[in-house]
Amino acid sequence: MAEAAIEQRAQSVFLEPARGEIFDRNGAPLNAPSWTPAVAVFPTLCADQELSENILTQLGIKNPGDHKPYVATCDPEKLENVKNAVGLENFLAVGIIPVNTKMRYGSGSIARHVVGYLADMAENRGVAGIELAADELLTRKKPRRLTAYADGSGERIPWLSFHVVESSSETTGVYLTIDKKIQAVLEATLAGTKRPSAGVVLEVATGDVVAMASTPGFDQNSLADYLQQPDSPFLNRAVQAYTPGSVFKLVTVACALEERLTRPGEVFSCDGKASIGSTTIGCSKAGGHGRISLEEAFAQSCNVTFIELGRRCGARRLLSYAARLGLGKKTELGLPDEQAGCLPDPTSLYLGDLANISIGQGAITVTPLQIAAITATIAAGGIYHEPRLISRWVDEKGHAIPYTEQKEGVRVLSEATAIWLQGAMSLAVQPGRTGAAAFIPVLGCAGKTGSAETGKVGENGEKVLHSWFSGYAPSDQPRYAACIFVEEGGYGGSAAAPAFKELMGAILNER
Ligand SMILES: [Zn+2]
Repeated sequence: MAEAAIEQRAQSVFLEPARGEIFDRNGAPLNAPSWTPAVAVFPTLCADQELSENILTQLGIKNPGDHKPYVATCDPEKLENVKNAVGLENFLAVGIIPVNTKMRYGSGSIARHVVGYLADMAENRGVAGIELAADELLTRKKPRRLTAYADGSGERIPWLSFHVVESSSETTGVYLTIDKKIQAVLEATLAGTKRPSAGVVLEVATGDVVAMASTPGFDQNSLADYLQQPDSPFLNRAVQAYTPGSVFKLVTVACALEERLTRPGEVFSCDGKASIGSTTIGCSKAGGHGRISLEEAFAQSCNVTFIELGRRCGARRLLSYAARLGLGKKTELGLPDEQAGCLPDPTSLYLGDLANISIGQGAITVTPLQIAAITATIAAGGIYHEPRLISRWVDEKGHAIPYTEQKEGVRVLSEATAIWLQGAMSLAVQPGRTGAAAFIPVLGCAGKTGSAETGKVGENGEKVLHSWFSGYAPSDQPRYAACIFVEEGGYGGSAAAPAFKELMGAILNER
């Protein structure tokens, strides 16, 4: 028979989604697809309707009734039993073929907020995360399919007429900068905070995102179950904007040093509160820090000193440094749900507003990703690397095509300022300082805490605070920068700092 004539009577079903995988930097699929037992059913290639219905009923499969071929998953044990009882040749004679079908998201699916999800499994359309951002590329994959050929009569079909048509290359898909191992460590660390939380880990030398996670999470195979759950499980908190609290002091002191409005070693005086017009802002230490050096003011997070620095900088200059360091705008990461964060208009600010912003309170919001990028910039000696998440696309034939070019780093802080900040961040994790709980023995680390007011008050009248810690390690030759955010987690030093220590300790010791 001529090939064209056979093709006309061929019917096909897909054995996998027509969608490329989403890989980590080493080619491990983050969606962890798995092959599961199923049957391909060809209702019009059936010689015995009664037998066909009988088999499907025993397998617990409901015939959609539109005569189109379809694939249905079934319980493997049930399938084996029915197959043995009925006989494989009788399965095939009624157009039912045992196959394996690919589930897009397996139980080991990781980085779910980054990967995102599909509208539903039947509809091959990404609606969140990389599934949405790279939807057009991902849908170029040609799936593996099973084709059945009808013989001349169109009734009884010899089982030899079924065969599998191979798909695009197994390596077809989008490759991220994520490192699956580091991602797993980050996810375990965040789970340990027992709060809604987020974390970002960047490679200091490149700005590549090696891990990004958010809790609580969700199951990509049963999205509906999570719609009504508390704490918005679909939210990728790593790219949502929150009040920074004292992690913003990195920006304030950077501006003051760069503009020569203070100098290393300058001694300030803190009596426990700062009064600006009608506004009074308390220091972190009741009764005040007394005489305190710039370095200790940073390490002990002295609000009074930083309000003075903010006053010297002025709103326009301070906010221009915030913008230069990447705040108030989205990165080029490509995640659809990334927020820009808010930098207020400097002309609209009163002195009290400026005092609040100097210590990261008031009308300013930032994302954990942005704070991680500032931290990486300091660790890299003042060079800002645009964070990157998607590195390449591998096409249907297996050819790699760069997706986001690695950009040259841009100097945004002088080396002198970056080195001062490195020293101050190293001091901040020493005993008695705010970040002491982050300290990593031997390798060393450096960082800054933040405890951001939320405007809420707890049951015992205490302020409800977002907990931040952002730092890098090892301290001498920084390899990774990480920001940890724990929503309403309390003081930065008590929730986020120990999580950072756990995270960095595990990542560095694994290498
Ligand atoms: Zn103070």
